[in-house]
Amino acid sequence: MRVKVCFMCREYIPILENDYLNKEQLEKFDSLHSGHPVQIVNKEEIMNIEEWKPFL
Ligand SMILES: [Zn+2]
Repeated sequence: MRVKVCFMCREYIPILENDYLNKEQLEKFDSLHSGHPVQIVNKEEIMNIEEWKPFL
C-alpha cells in the first residue's frame, strides 16, 4: 500500500485510488503539513510504523 508521510510529524495517510473521501483527506494532510518534508512511499518502507500516527 502506498502512503503519504510527513517525516517531521511522523504522521501518515494511506493513498486510495478513486476514493473521494480519501482525496479530501489527502488535501487536508497537504495543507496541515505544507512546508514539511512530505513524501509518498510504500508502507513497508517505513520503519516502526506502529510508532507513527495515522491521519484520520
Ligand atoms: Zn508535518
